[in-house]
Amino acid sequence: MTKAIKNLRDHLAEIHDLARAASVLGWDQQTYMPRGGAESRADQLSTLARLTHSKFTSSKTRRLLDQAAAETAPLPADHDDRRLVEIVRMDLDRETKLPGSFVARWSRDASLSTEAWREARQADSFRSYRPHLKKMVGYALKAAEYYGYEDHPYDALLFDYEAGMKTAEVKAAFDVLRPAQVELVRKLAERPEPRTDFLRRHYPAGAQGEFGMKIAKAFGYDTNRGRLDVAPHPFATKFGRNDVRITTRYDENFLPSSLFAIMHETGHALYEQNVSPGLDRTPLSRGCSSIFHESQSRLWENVVGRSRHFWERHFGDLRDTFPEQLSDVSVDDFYRGVNQVKPSLIRVEADEVTYNLHIMLRFEIELGLIEGKVEVKDLPELWRTKMEEYLGVTPSDDKDGVMQDIHWSGGSIGYFPTYALGNVMGAQIYETVMSRRPETRGELARGEYTGLLGWLKENLYTHGRKFMPRDLAMKLNGKPLDPKPYLRYLTSKFGEIYGI
Ligand code: ZN
Repeated sequence: MTKAIKNLRDHLAEIHDLARAASVLGWDQQTYMPRGGAESRADQLSTLARLTHSKFTSSKTRRLLDQAAAETAPLPADHDDRRLVEIVRMDLDRETKLPGSFVARWSRDASLSTEAWREARQADSFRSYRPHLKKMVGYALKAAEYYGYEDHPYDALLFDYEAGMKTAEVKAAFDVLRPAQVELVRKLAERPEPRTDFLRRHYPAGAQGEFGMKIAKAFGYDTNRGRLDVAPHPFATKFGRNDVRITTRYDENFLPSSLFAIMHETGHALYEQNVSPGLDRTPLSRGCSSIFHESQSRLWENVVGRSRHFWERHFGDLRDTFPEQLSDVSVDDFYRGVNQVKPSLIRVEADEVTYNLHIMLRFEIELGLIEGKVEVKDLPELWRTKMEEYLGVTPSDDKDGVMQDIHWSGGSIGYFPTYALGNVMGAQIYETVMSRRPETRGELARGEYTGLLGWLKENLYTHGRKFMPRDLAMKLNGKPLDPKPYLRYLTSKFGEIYGI
């Protein structure tokens, strides 16, 4: 490593350490912090955010970057140091496009808006939330102008979550998925529902956690470099590649809640624990993008964890853990039960078949707002219309309708599509693994996960954020994001479960 590259890496490492320290504080805030700590914690987080931002956008970063660029230019195109310089330059250009005063106003109004959303949601009063949401849409539009875009202002917003992806690509994928998924939901609704009564028996939290962690470890989650805690909204977080934490929440009267949350967050954690050590303490030491990250949480949670193979292998263990609760339940009952498809109002509780429809509705609304074709005041009505059209259910209030998610209140517009496309990418990657490494199927049936994890490590996890999402998709699957594998997966899995 030359001097210029070392200087750049040292500088980035300090910025990285500040950001990871903020992650520790954020994790603590969601898990153990007493309520009284909220105010000082907000101060601490905002100080760290300010320091991180000013250190990163300083002239020093640009100078070190220019010096390192001269030395990395002759390196191979995919060399870690060359990519580091290129990606950091991309981040820096983007971060310096928004004026500091604009960022400060936006972030202050975003916290007020989130507070207003919390209260409005509790009171089921869209009217009191409306002016805040309108402001957030205004900020997003203004940000898109500052960032600049070629085709669509929404492209500029998507960039934060999926760098380089175009609105037109999202639309194209959704246009393939929407009719097929609406049709599948309709067909499944005509079939008898699977039995699910046993999922709502009493399952003590302690035993749920133990079983969940047994699975997480079987998948390959390294608990010497991670741990599980309880949080109201499950998440995974990283303090460094050797400390990647997961959280879950327990519902003692609904088994799937924590069980699948642990598998989901384990998927995120496996990705982060296996990024190449050579990228450590740089902005490249994390997953490539929101779509890639969600592809892994969904792959481990759903494609693996909700498969028939999986439960044929692990149901015995689960029944040993909960002998009374599951005494009258067969593997087949259980497998069908945890794969029940039922249109519902709430996105985060949706099953695999209906989930993407919740997302498409949000994407269409976001697009309408950004294009100026939809007004904030019309959202509750528009929400109900689309829910009826896609899912055949309509919320009776706005609390479980247009106000159910936190995202818009904080100004996150452009995030939602990556959830649905994460499902799509997960199925696509799974097809790739099966064709390149056919023995994986047999291994999964035997409850062996090291082969699958090893392949994903070598071909995806290790690269961290070194490649642009589109390039990584090409490297991995030999083609760009494609909705067809996901539709094949849904049709064959749920066709078999529901006998169609
Ligand atoms: Zn996730």
